Amino acid sequence: MSAFEAAGLTRSYQLEGVTVDALRGVDLTIGDGEFAAIVGPSGSGKSTLMHLLGCLDRPTSGVLRVGGVDVSTLDDTQLAELRNRMIGFVFQSFHLLARTSALDNVALPLVYRGVAKADRRKRARAALEAVGLAHRLDHRPSQMSGGEQQRVAIARALVGDPQVVLADEPTGNLDTRNGEEVMGLLERLNADQGVAIVLVTHEAEVANRARRQIHVRDGLIERDVA
Ligand code: ADP
Ligand code: ADP
Repeated sequence: MSAFEAAGLTRSYQLEGVTVDALRGVDLTIGDGEFAAIVGPSGSGKSTLMHLLGCLDRPTSGVLRVGGVDVSTLDDTQLAELRNRMIGFVFQSFHLLARTSALDNVALPLVYRGVAKADRRKRARAALEAVGLAHRLDHRPSQMSGGEQQRVAIARALVGDPQVVLADEPTGNLDTRNGEEVMGLLERLNADQGVAIVLVTHEAEVANRARRQIHVRDGLIERDVA
């Protein structure tokens, strides 16, 4: 099965009476277990595409299947359920709760799913171990380096066992060494656990480590290199 299948995907925004076509008929299939980078100039439609793939937004027209499900058949609650089940998110600026331990940050998505506390802690600990942070369970974000904070965020993305991790500039706030460490971690998770990774990046070195580069320009895929 494919993680994502898009056909004729368009997304237009209305801005003060003007229509902006952010995506203009994108055809794209991303299979289970892929590792793909989305690249392209600022304003080309990368964030719009990521928001659609992440079920945070809906297409204006065209078909999008996420995990085989046509998103147009779902109401907002069902779309949110699909998102929670299928997708983990990683952001450029980590988005961790500042006054909360690594363990509780990672356990948070499970609170919304009604997982019991003991089970939450067990799963959060396992996710932190998987990103090499077994020794940081009780640390707060401010007590950790940027690279460690991003690894906590990756553990949070993984704790619900998603099929796909969508990462928006995951190395954008990290120095070269920490960026490489985060990429190495994403590669390992992809290889060992089969979780698909789709990331947006401006950095050629980061894009080159993905197994596929999807080049977006002016709302279309201009080149797709595997
Ligand atoms: P990228 O992530 O590649 O920088 P975006 O997907 O953010 O590109 O933007 C694509 C186009 O859509 C740009 O012209 C941008 O200005 C426009 N756009 C994005 N979001 C909105 C919005 N919420 N309202 C209006 N226009 C938007
Ligand atoms: P920045 O480039 O400012 O660091 P991020 O990469 O952190 O931005 O976030 C990328 C986008 O995702 C932003 O538009 C933000 O509003 C959105 N976002 C952040 N956190 C969440 C969330 N938990 N759920 C959905 N969207 C989010």
